Amino acid sequence: MSSIYRIITAFLLFFIFMIGDHPSAKADEYDAQRSAMVAEQLMRRGITNAQVLRAMGTVPRHRFVPKRFEALAYGDHPLPIGYDQTISQPYIVALMTDLLDIRPGRRVLEIGTGSGYQAAILAEMGAEVYSIEIIPELGQGAQKILASLGYQKAKVKIGDGYLGWPEAAPFDAIIVTCSPHKIPEPLKNQLAEGGRLVIPVGDRFTQNLVRLTKKEGRIIEEKVVDVLFVPMVDEKGKKY
Ligand code: SAH
Repeated sequence: MSSIYRIITAFLLFFIFMIGDHPSAKADEYDAQRSAMVAEQLMRRGITNAQVLRAMGTVPRHRFVPKRFEALAYGDHPLPIGYDQTISQPYIVALMTDLLDIRPGRRVLEIGTGSGYQAAILAEMGAEVYSIEIIPELGQGAQKILASLGYQKAKVKIGDGYLGWPEAAPFDAIIVTCSPHKIPEPLKNQLAEGGRLVIPVGDRFTQNLVRLTKKEGRIIEEKVVDVLFVPMVDEKGKKY
């Protein structure tokens, strides 16, 4: 082949690569966006926990949002996931995870599976995850994506998380990603000695992120920051 043909072929291949919806090019782009998210949204705001940063830098967040929002998955904001629910802002996911003191093998209960993203972060850190979602379609969708990414050990149950998961209790950590007026008693009771419960409590528009730690049977409460989560509701849709 003469060199002119070789040059033309090279150009053609280059243009086909550029115009095509090249999946690996897209994957590389999301990898870059994910690294930027970790550096600019998490590290810059003071998240230093290496395991949290590694998990947030690994889990493909774009796979947990509806297709039409995929390109916005790594932005510094929450996103709609359907059924009037949202996936939390990356920083809030990192902050709550950091507050839980996750280690491999720790048993963690999540209330509000939603997209499954928070459950994936916990599973990526080696936790044994039990997650409860009240909207069946969301819970089933989350279970599917978790399994397809290899986090099949994360268990998802459809039901009212107010009551916790007594059969699997006690838990080393409990994370609640929907907001009740008061901290549910069943969740406090399902906390192991030394365990931590992180929960947004308050009214519709004024909520505190609170951390409870169980120490020698007593509960220590700390307020962390103001937040805004969707309400925790019962099976009739009434807010707790
Ligand atoms: N952690 C999720 C964010 C979910 S938004 C994520 O990573 O995507 C909060 C979720 O809590 C919603 O999906 C909502 O349906 C669910 N929820 C509200 N009340 C609940 C209850 N009583 N029990 C279980 N889930 C509940």
